[in-house]
Amino acid sequence: MKRGRVKSNSGLNLREKPNGEKVGLLKHNDILDIIDEVTFYRVKTSTGKLGFVHGDYVESLPDTRQFVETDGEKLQASIDSPSDEFELMEYTASQFVGSAVKVDRDFAAHLNKVNEFAKARDLKIYVTSSTRSINQQVQGAIVPPATRSCHFIGHAIDMNLMLDGKLFNSRALRRNNITNLPPAIGAFIDDIRADEHLRWGGDFRTEDPVHIDDNFYHRKTLLYKAKLFSRVRQLNT
Ligand SMILES: [Zn+2]
Repeated sequence: MKRGRVKSNSGLNLREKPNGEKVGLLKHNDILDIIDEVTFYRVKTSTGKLGFVHGDYVESLPDTRQFVETDGEKLQASIDSPSDEFELMEYTASQFVGSAVKVDRDFAAHLNKVNEFAKARDLKIYVTSSTRSINQQVQGAIVPPATRSCHFIGHAIDMNLMLDGKLFNSRALRRNNITNLPPAIGAFIDDIRADEHLRWGGDFRTEDPVHIDDNFYHRKTLLYKAKLFSRVRQLNT
């Protein structure tokens, strides 16, 4: 049988069941026989009820909640007053397919808009790159990463678009090819262009049609530098 030692200097409550009635107090360094290793999870149900469940009967899943619905207002406020800290979060939303996108929290509200634009046109967004390593060379990148790239602070995505199961990549999405594509794609790109903060990379001098960012370097240069500094500091701690 496995054995255990009470680690806590102040002792440890002995309980009848997980989080149940106290039936005794163990002292520091008390030796115990471990009969069962039972894991309970503290949980909140979809209706807000709190409690404990046995971990053996719950499969762990990544958090894929849609911030569009759960955190919309708070995120929206971050567009007008972004923080100077880089705070990586996993973004998911209804039109984003594939794994969660990792971006700075202050970019999430912009992605909510991109999500709404895509939803209106029945498009899915397949992200191929988001927050980029500061020294990472982008494999297969069609353009050299800009030195002030929004990718470095998690304020940009590279994406392919999907419509009716068909994928439209950087080749298809070239500016002078958009009129040959289903109208939904041109309409989506026009929505991005019409947004006061968002930019479509297809409009850049060096065309980068899979790229969408919020022009953070030019709009908020000092905050861009602060976020970049914050990220470097996080990498070094
Ligand atoms: Zn990009």
